[in-house]
Amino acid sequence: MPTFVRTEKCDGCKGQDKTACMYICPHDLMKLDKDGSDTGHAMKAFNQEPEQCWECYSCVKICPQGAIECRHYADVVPLGGSVQPMRGSDSIMWTIKFRNGNIKRFKFPIRTTPEGSIDPFGGKPMPKLADLNIDGVFTKEVMGGFRAGNPAELIRK
Ligand code: SF4
Ligand code: SF4
Repeated sequence: MPTFVRTEKCDGCKGQDKTACMYICPHDLMKLDKDGSDTGHAMKAFNQEPEQCWECYSCVKICPQGAIECRHYADVVPLGGSVQPMRGSDSIMWTIKFRNGNIKRFKFPIRTTPEGSIDPFGGKPMPKLADLNIDGVFTKEVMGGFRAGNPAELIRK
């Protein structure tokens, strides 16, 4: 079920060219309606193709205003309930609202090192282009390995 934006909370990421939700969505679904011509709400973001949203929650977690929420499947989160994260630099807080008014909060650590301190290639050897020719590397065309796509095998032609 897709995400939606609470327009009263969204500040359009203060008019930057690419908003946080646009930056993070792996499916390029979020869009800033700069002049309001798409939605009638200028400088507010919206999910432009809700049926394509896979609820990865990335936009919900990154929105600095907490303006994005997710509609859930009714058997998991019945109408009136909500599941909302609030991400910090070292932890994430989930607020679960039940439709009878009960609220539960769960806080989890999300990292063990200071933010920005990780060297992703630290201690790893430098890649060698020549290694791409070694059998078994997935980009090499070998029996049972990668091969180019064949349009005749498409299910939907
Ligand atoms: S990240 Fe949040 S505040 Fe920024 S444009 Fe998207 S919905 Fe609005
Ligand atoms: S939940 Fe994931 S796929 Fe859906 S709009 Fe947000 S970032 Fe994109």
